[in-house]
Amino acid sequence: MDYLALDIGGTKIKYGIIDHIGNIKESYSKDTNAFKGSYYLLNTIEKIINDYIKIKEIKGIGISTAGQVNNNTGEIIFATNAIPGWTGVPLKKIIQDKFQIPCYVDNDVNCVALGEMWVGSAKDKKDFVCLTLGTGIGGAIVINKEVYRGSKGIAGEFGHMTICKGGEKCTCGYNGCFERYASTAALTRRVENKLDGKEIFDKAKKGEKEYINILNEWSYDIALGLRNIIYIINPSFIVIGGGVSAQGEVLTRLITKHLDTITMPSFLEGLRIEVSQCGNNAGMLGAVYGIKMYKDNI
Ligand SMILES: [Zn+2]
Repeated sequence: MDYLALDIGGTKIKYGIIDHIGNIKESYSKDTNAFKGSYYLLNTIEKIINDYIKIKEIKGIGISTAGQVNNNTGEIIFATNAIPGWTGVPLKKIIQDKFQIPCYVDNDVNCVALGEMWVGSAKDKKDFVCLTLGTGIGGAIVINKEVYRGSKGIAGEFGHMTICKGGEKCTCGYNGCFERYASTAALTRRVENKLDGKEIFDKAKKGEKEYINILNEWSYDIALGLRNIIYIINPSFIVIGGGVSAQGEVLTRLITKHLDTITMPSFLEGLRIEVSQCGNNAGMLGAVYGIKMYKDNI
């Protein structure tokens, strides 16, 4: 029997069928249309589930979503305006009451970490840190194969560490946050959004000096934030996710080059930095792994 996975982002909902060992049997995506509000989004989710259970027996439903999530209750603690009205929605309860199928709901970056731990880069790792680069920067801390949650379940918000006093204004209300400098959106802002991340990398790979410099400055800012994380956690493994992680070793080499010059050597000994292996599917995979990991609570 297979699992149904959904990964809800501000722009797209990815969904598909995953088997018990983490093979993705099929996957699709559709627009979230988040601006239409949480009722519309709930309807979309219920329709996806309904269409599957008509034709297939589903063992569990794993949902990865943008926003802060209580993974015990499956309630959205807080979501920004990327999904209006999502804050406070008891998603797991709504789905379980309606469909009588075990459901697990977790934050999207925690799900990326769980997915990588199940079948990706962090497969054999007990302790690691996960960083996702996108519109913002997300983070997850894994200790002894468990996501470290903090007192309210929202630990690992690396994107809002301050790396520049008095720096750029951030969506969180403060300024100088890590994600204002080191997210993929921050990279494309450096070229006034005339190119996307991949196009900037492509130009740098062709030897265009201007873009090599831009990538150098941007990856230095990634290293600055990682340096702080490394000093607090002393991890042996860091996995980098988000669309730009498709750049693979080109990206990790840029980051480690800077880390080597700004971090005490004792913290770098034995530290490996790799990109996500599950790519875009990490969130869906992690949501399903959550059902398996936390089945006693569901
Ligand atoms: Zn911020």
